[in-house]
Amino acid sequence: MHQHQGEHIPAISVVIPCFNEQDNVKNLVERVEAVCTDVAPGSFEIVLVNDGSKDRTWPMIAAFADNSQHIVAVNLARNYGHQLALSAGLQICRGDVVMVMDADLQDPPELLGGMLDKMEEGYDVVYGQRLSRAGETMFKRASASIFYRTLQKLVDVQIPRDTGDFRLMSRRVVEELNAMPERYRFIRGMVSWVGFAQAAFPYERDARHAGESNYPLKKMISFAIDAVTSFSTIPLRFTAHLGLLAGMIGLLTLGWVFISYLTGNTVGGWASIAALVLILGSLQLLMLGIFGEYLGRMYMESKHRPLFIVQEVRSWRNGVKMENPVHRIQRQIRKTVNG
Ligand code: UDP
Ligand code: MG
Repeated sequence: MHQHQGEHIPAISVVIPCFNEQDNVKNLVERVEAVCTDVAPGSFEIVLVNDGSKDRTWPMIAAFADNSQHIVAVNLARNYGHQLALSAGLQICRGDVVMVMDADLQDPPELLGGMLDKMEEGYDVVYGQRLSRAGETMFKRASASIFYRTLQKLVDVQIPRDTGDFRLMSRRVVEELNAMPERYRFIRGMVSWVGFAQAAFPYERDARHAGESNYPLKKMISFAIDAVTSFSTIPLRFTAHLGLLAGMIGLLTLGWVFISYLTGNTVGGWASIAALVLILGSLQLLMLGIFGEYLGRMYMESKHRPLFIVQEVRSWRNGVKMENPVHRIQRQIRKTVNG
């Protein structure tokens, strides 16, 4: 632990977003606390971010924070989603090294020691890479596999396969992430984008400790769209390519129409015209949809709203009162945006 502007900086922060995890938090805190006490005795903090849970998650983690100097409990004003809850935790944590993990204990906290060793070899990021996915459905596995493969084709930065947000990051990487003002956050991609030396840490992923996955198909799809659109404009280019293709088909058809005209065979052909109109019409709508997707995101980003609102922070570092972290975060974003 070292001093920084009169503040104790923990060696390690563990940041954990929690959404309806009441059956996991007790076990979670016990395991993480045990591991941290082992590798960084007396110099760690566990930042638990409640992302608008509807169950007893908040009262539970608030009580943990009241009873343990190591625990920081953050309550967001509503459910902002996994990536924003994680962003909130990254803004609030202060450790030199930051570990990110899920609340459901799918990522074993016991790997911290090994990951730290890896980091000491000179890496800024050590990301967990899943060897197995116990307790996940065939569908989830297949969709994840297709997702990572497609993503790799579409985006410019190398986003390693089979990684989640389970990782260790140096302070400077976290600072870079915190300085990124974007609203649609695909954090594992943003980490790859930052650069520095990054290493994989293979591990076996456990099944969820309790409760159900909070990533139903609808959320998975919107997560995938966020990932692609925030790192790639290839879908926009794709519309141009498709337009070109449609144009070529149109030209060929025109040739055929001309021949039909010359041979006096002009009465039939209703079916082919109807088919062409339908195909072109739906293609155009699809293209418009892709444009709309990007346009909508530009609109949302242009509002420069804060990414999330923090309702309450319970920690020991402040004693009685601390600056509302929302202001700090907004200031930071404004600074980045306006130079
Ligand atoms: N989570 C969150 N907000 C949400 C959904 C999920 O903070 O709206 C948290 C959740 O508590 C967990 C992590 O994000 O710690 C990953 O969620 P989950 O385990 O449901 O996803 P999966 O492992 O199935 O991909
Ligand atoms: Mg999970």
